[in-house]
Amino acid sequence: MQNRTYNVIIFVSMHILCIVALFHASKVGVLCLFLGWLLTGIGISVGYHRLITHKSFKAPPLAEKILTLFGLLAMQGGPLTWLAIHKTHHACSDSSEDPHSASAGFIYSQFGWIFNSVANRKLARFFAEAKKAYADNLWMIFLEQYNAHISVGLLVLAATTLPFATFLWAFPLRIVLVWHLTWLVNSIGHSALEINAKPRNLPWLSLLTFGEGLHATHHCNPSSPNFGSKSLDWGGFIVSTFFSDRPKSPKGRDLA
Ligand SMILES: [Zn+2]
Ligand SMILES: [Zn+2]
Repeated sequence: MQNRTYNVIIFVSMHILCIVALFHASKVGVLCLFLGWLLTGIGISVGYHRLITHKSFKAPPLAEKILTLFGLLAMQGGPLTWLAIHKTHHACSDSSEDPHSASAGFIYSQFGWIFNSVANRKLARFFAEAKKAYADNLWMIFLEQYNAHISVGLLVLAATTLPFATFLWAFPLRIVLVWHLTWLVNSIGHSALEINAKPRNLPWLSLLTFGEGLHATHHCNPSSPNFGSKSLDWGGFIVSTFFSDRPKSPKGRDLA
């Protein structure tokens, strides 16, 4: 599971660098930002969310490795931590046990929750189940164990080798952009600005998050790889184009 101090340091430093990036634009940097958003956005929606968390489709081992590596590069934690947080969210949506409950308001559900150190027994149980379910998947265990080392190592490598403007746009700005797009699904995707929090579909957010914005549809049927129409759910389009359906009986690994 992710360390709270690590979360604070990464969150604050990335946002400071993000402000610096606004004064150092370059064409290559903008292109890298776009490609980074594309790859890590797909990594989160198709890899972390639909494949690893809900097991809603089947992917060959190499595709699973690539998708989860892209997900990891979004710097949203290891795949099993992400799984446990999201499973807890589905199990206790908008309640006090929901890790990013929209009932606690916009700021909390958008990013305040990542600083919360209060123990969540349900989340701990989902994490333990995920570790057991993926115990024979060395790649997943490796990503979970070393996600911070890989992410920070890559950041340092990029900062010391790339032109400054390219680094700022390809990494801090891209990371912060994908963070907040993902978190908008947790906040306004759950009506955090309204009195009664509940999942809802936001087509504009869906286009920016590869289908994640069709959140009410997803909550109705979490194990489906498709969240809505292909024109809005690009993640679902990728799944139906390149991968096969979910196995009928995913023995011992389906946590949905
Ligand atoms: Zn939700
Ligand atoms: Zn889900």
